[in-house]
Amino acid sequence: MIRRERLVQTFCDIAKIDSPSGEEENMAINISSRLETLGFKTMRDAYGNLVASDGRPDPILLSAHLDTVEPGRGINPSVKGDRIVSDGTTILGGDCKAGISAILEALESIMEDGVEYHPVELAFTREEEIGLVGARNLDFNLITAKEAIVFDGEGPVSQITASSPTYVGFDIEITGRAAHAGVEPEKGLSSIKIASEIITRLPQGRLDENTTVNVGTIEGGTVRNAVPETTTIRGEFRSTSIENLDGLRVQITDVVKEVEKLFPDATINNHLHVEFETYTLTDDDPATMRVKETLKGLGLKPSMKPSGGGTDGNVFRLNGISSVVVGMADHGMHTVREYVTIPDLVDAAHLCEALLRTK
Ligand SMILES: [Zn+2]
Repeated sequence: MIRRERLVQTFCDIAKIDSPSGEEENMAINISSRLETLGFKTMRDAYGNLVASDGRPDPILLSAHLDTVEPGRGINPSVKGDRIVSDGTTILGGDCKAGISAILEALESIMEDGVEYHPVELAFTREEEIGLVGARNLDFNLITAKEAIVFDGEGPVSQITASSPTYVGFDIEITGRAAHAGVEPEKGLSSIKIASEIITRLPQGRLDENTTVNVGTIEGGTVRNAVPETTTIRGEFRSTSIENLDGLRVQITDVVKEVEKLFPDATINNHLHVEFETYTLTDDDPATMRVKETLKGLGLKPSMKPSGGGTDGNVFRLNGISSVVVGMADHGMHTVREYVTIPDLVDAAHLCEALLRTK
């Protein structure tokens, strides 16, 4: 039986373990020992991701990530009515510890009741928040499941992430020429001026319903009184449309070429890198069908919502695993106003349990 009190306690206990991206070790040790107590065989891959299994064939994969964003140290969770909140100085870490605690509660419930359950594998990844790094380094030889349910979505568990964009990062490195700003500026070539020429020519913001572009950082110059020699622009664009992605690649490359012509003495390097690939769930997708059926069995109505972000599900799909991302009762992710709705968290545990009880 899913027990609300135990679930809330588990959540609060693991929320108190600091685990900003790159510092997940204490979380991994804690979750690993909980899983071993429940009878699972646990493993760590070379990257430090935690994988567990009950050793039976044809399992389904349940997954969540171990890391949280900043400010996420010394989190002090408390229950306020139907919500779990932080003290307002940090995030709560419901992303993704709500997902982890829902999975743990479902496993606890099943072991306690001593019922038969579906073979299961578990993957708890590192460094999701800094670009799905753990999942991209996950040793997929340790995973045999063909279907995955990822507990990492916003809102109630019935909220399924219907699509996710491709995410392309770009780094434009400009090298001009340094010179004394007051004595001989004529001899200099300002990389900041060149950067501004590039930035004003780039599209930015929301271009259409599923396409966005952002220049996130500019970094250049060293001191006030020198013509700045080097500047780096870092940005990203996302879309679910292959045409738009190709169009933006061309557009950014053309802008760089155009500005290069204006400043032939400068060197401009443009580097584009795909961080994760798009997907759109279809009605015949095995994991989607499984989750929808199970939700209906619990009296919950599945709702399909597109997302502008990526999750480990994007990486699992690239590795041939049909993956569905469901909500985990979290709201206001990545802010100090983040909260977890307890009835929704209980629903998430119920879904997880029901997935395991369904043959
Ligand atoms: Zn997350």
